Amino acid sequence: MSSSGQPTSTLSPAEPGSGRAGQAKPALYIISGPSGSGKSTITARLAAAGKAVFSVSYTTRKCHHSEREGIDYRFVSEPRFKQLQSNGELLESALVHGNWYGTSRADINDFLAKGKNVMLEIDVKGAEQVRTCGLPCTSIFILPPSPEELLARLAGRQREEDEQIRMRLANARQEVQAIADFEFFIINRDIDQAVQDIAGIIDNRDRSHNLANQQELIEKWQQWARK
Ligand code: 5GP
Repeated sequence: MSSSGQPTSTLSPAEPGSGRAGQAKPALYIISGPSGSGKSTITARLAAAGKAVFSVSYTTRKCHHSEREGIDYRFVSEPRFKQLQSNGELLESALVHGNWYGTSRADINDFLAKGKNVMLEIDVKGAEQVRTCGLPCTSIFILPPSPEELLARLAGRQREEDEQIRMRLANARQEVQAIADFEFFIINRDIDQAVQDIAGIIDNRDRSHNLANQQELIEKWQQWARK
């Protein structure tokens, strides 16, 4: 973050969400990975650099004091969420860590119609629903360098109670088991590098992070997830 609280970026700014000039079609970019993988910081940087716009999800979870309504999430009651679901207003939805989360169908249609690439920071159950919804999409899974680092990041956030941290860790094991369903795999060792890597994927100029190139590393994480 910069001193003004705005995310800093090593990428040059562009028209929001337009991706690379002359790029063929706007698409959805699914960004998944366990809590503590750094997804939020990465998507904020990519949005600031104009690589893609961020889809603001609905959630029934409580708002943390650091979060802003309509920017980080749209915080709604459970009855309101159920209504959005039954009206077909959500492109996907899932129960994650005991709370509901979902993506606005209208927002996505609007962004794509305006030619913008869109990032969806969603869990693996939501990712599966988006993959099968018929819209053009690319899916990217993010992890920290090691399981130890994941635990340290979760514990270091001081945002959640111990019980929440345990739940998020158990959930991380389940999420890691879904890696094989993704097209790209990014290790967030260095935030600037991770941002550059995903920008390369959005610009369609870098396929080095596809799953096939990283089988050994993926197997290590999957072993951890099966423990
Ligand atoms: P958090 O409560 O830490 O902000 O998010 C918890 C989890 O919910 C994260 O894995 C995040 O990716 C996921 N999530 C956030 N928004 C959505 C959404 O709209 N749909 C789905 N399926 N998952 C979401």
